[in-house]
Amino acid sequence: MNIHEYQAKEILNSYGIPIPRGMVAMTSDQVERAAKMMGGRCVVKAQIYAGGRGKAGGVKLVHYPEQAQEYGKELFSRPLVTSQTGPEGLRVRRILVEEAVEIAREFYLSITLDRETSLYVLIASAEGGMDIEEVANKSPEKIHKLLIDPLTGLRPYQARKISLELGLTGTVCEDCVELLMNLYRVCQEKDCSLVEINPLVVTRAGWLMAMDAKIAFDDNAVYRHREYPDMMDYSQLDPLEITAGKYDLAYIKLTGSIGCLVNGAGLAMATLDVLKECGGEPANFLDVGGGATREKVAEAFRIILQDRDVKGVFVNIFGGIMRCDVIAHGIIEAAGAFNCTLPIVVRMDGSKVEEGKKLLRESGLNVQVGDDLGDAATRIVKMLG
Ligand code: ADP
Ligand code: MG
Repeated sequence: MNIHEYQAKEILNSYGIPIPRGMVAMTSDQVERAAKMMGGRCVVKAQIYAGGRGKAGGVKLVHYPEQAQEYGKELFSRPLVTSQTGPEGLRVRRILVEEAVEIAREFYLSITLDRETSLYVLIASAEGGMDIEEVANKSPEKIHKLLIDPLTGLRPYQARKISLELGLTGTVCEDCVELLMNLYRVCQEKDCSLVEINPLVVTRAGWLMAMDAKIAFDDNAVYRHREYPDMMDYSQLDPLEITAGKYDLAYIKLTGSIGCLVNGAGLAMATLDVLKECGGEPANFLDVGGGATREKVAEAFRIILQDRDVKGVFVNIFGGIMRCDVIAHGIIEAAGAFNCTLPIVVRMDGSKVEEGKKLLRESGLNVQVGDDLGDAATRIVKMLG
């Protein structure tokens, strides 16, 4: 689960990490008023669930309130496209108006999970700011990494080593040690899968400050934090993902043209692999899980049909706990309600498979039933040819 920069900054600040003074605005008039309170000169920052805003015009230094308002209007008026959003971009519903800080140096800092070692890893670089991806590609030796042992946690001497590697000395170095220790506490206590400060800056006046912040919470730990669900900004999510979530269906958007309805995550992976092998490109997959009802299948099918990239539907179901005739009823119900004329190929096996196939064949839909997974995948790819 993601949150906005301003929310991440509030959390960091509650752990003693300095952040710039700022206010969140929901309208361009509020942007203007906030800018006035900041004294005119300030930084206007679009809040979206993606980075790369600086380079895409989502972060701007303005010099007087009217300029802030004008810029706010522009940001609210259309989706912001950055290198991380995809071509459709993300709508801006909130803008952070922040004091303009005089920056002397910019660093990169993050703590995230290292999946190879199953440990938190602290990553730091003196070459922080907007080009960190390039630094990682071209000069990986400038990126410092430290794996954190969960038993001992982050030790001050380790934090000091990192601070020195960043080239910090004296009191700023000690401030950085404290900041790193606090950052690790945020990670643990807030169940984060990522906490990133890019850039962490040293101001002209010599203070450390988090100038940007990104936090992702571990979805499996959200239930431990009552306040998290209210922090979500639904305008940043795919509406179909929200609907799927309501019905407890796992929906993943992909880039191709074949909508996939499957039961079980393992079967979903296998289905995508086989489709790809046959030359097909999945538009999404929707996992209805083990014991779905007719209504749930119908809802899943409806979600797939609402994805405008879908040109054909591939259903791959193994009827173990689920019965194939129940699945067939769900498909027929949803396809009928939508007057669906898209080609549908179904591969099903297991309980009541003959009944299920018969129902589909007699449904009047543009449906074919494959003999096995390979045959069915070949058919849908051919039909979309
Ligand atoms: P993104 O990472 O999405 O591009 P950032 O919040 O990192 O967005 O902002 C981009 C750049 O803008 C930062 O690297 C920093 O140099 C500058 N910046 C951001 N906020 C401020 C601020 N309050 N004062 C001065 N400069 C800022
Ligand atoms: Mg940034």
